[in-house]
Amino acid sequence: MTRDFEERFAAYLGVDNAVAVNSCTAALHLALAALGVGAGDEVIVPTMTFAATAEVVIHLGARPVLVDCDPATLNVVPEAIAAAITPHTRAIVPVHFGGQPAPMDPILEIAALFGIAIVEDAAHAFPARYRGRNVGTIGHATCFSFYANKSITTGEGGMATTADGALADRMRMLSLHGLSRDAWTRFSSEGTWDYDIRTPGYKYNLTDIASALGIDQLAHASEFLAARQRQAETYRSRFSEVAAIRPVEIEDDVEHAWHLYFLILETERMTISRNELIDLLKAEGIGTSVHYRPLHLHSYYRETLGYRSEALPVATDLFPRLISLPIYPSLTEGELDRVAETVSRLITAHTR
Ligand SMILES: *Cc1c(COP(=O)(O)O)cnc(C)c1O
Repeated sequence: MTRDFEERFAAYLGVDNAVAVNSCTAALHLALAALGVGAGDEVIVPTMTFAATAEVVIHLGARPVLVDCDPATLNVVPEAIAAAITPHTRAIVPVHFGGQPAPMDPILEIAALFGIAIVEDAAHAFPARYRGRNVGTIGHATCFSFYANKSITTGEGGMATTADGALADRMRMLSLHGLSRDAWTRFSSEGTWDYDIRTPGYKYNLTDIASALGIDQLAHASEFLAARQRQAETYRSRFSEVAAIRPVEIEDDVEHAWHLYFLILETERMTISRNELIDLLKAEGIGTSVHYRPLHLHSYYRETLGYRSEALPVATDLFPRLISLPIYPSLTEGELDRVAETVSRLITAHTR
């Protein structure tokens, strides 16, 4: 089942190799480990992301170097990446924020210039396209999530894709205790009982049960995307007239996966804070979230890694303005309408 899921996923994206693992976090960890990231290295990570993107760098003994985001897309800024490069930089981990592809061409140029690897965190970006290329076929390795709230799900699960067969082999070996490839089939009739431990690995393989779910989910991926696109379109048109909502920029020539639908609030024009808005929405039965409290505003990054809020001013400024609204294929038109109406009404009622 897992081999079948890997093959179907790779075929869907048009990439040579897909390695199924039990989370996107595991995929990120394996990709960086297989690329040789280790003690003393630096890896460039956007501050506007989830814990997983940076923690795996720390587990490898390397340092996550946090960079700021674009105020109109929340995606990482290529100039900030270029400015963060040092002789210790080994990899860049762009995140396709909310499902909108990061500006990959300039990032690829920087990576090529300095001989640095790109491992994409595509947890939000299945399926998405950048300038005619599928996300999953662009960087050295791309990591997808099948967590419960992601665009397709296996409960918990993930996938790493790469055009590099040797990198895929290393990730596969590391995903199952570092055992030699022959051992992979040791429980089948062609396999043998013997195996060789090539390197200390991890226990990151995806189960056949999860893969069976993934095969079915994958068959619905285009239909799920179409539902999210319709919902995002409705939100965009319904909020275009709300003065205190700052428009989010969608770049030309990208196909957005719409994992998130977030608003950027002009809080200076409002008489309530973002947190108060969240409470008012909750009182009307609408659940929202915030993506994300930037990494540099968390205690570990402040206290242990020494980040200050002024060092990453765009993300620091954005954090109290962000709110993510419900978006998922089974959201009905009536529910979507009620969310759009309630959000517009509450923001308008609290705008100066
Ligand atoms: C969900 C998510 C992850 C982690 O995915 P898991 O499959 O839960 O490990 C990593 N990065 C981002 C940006 C995410 O949203």
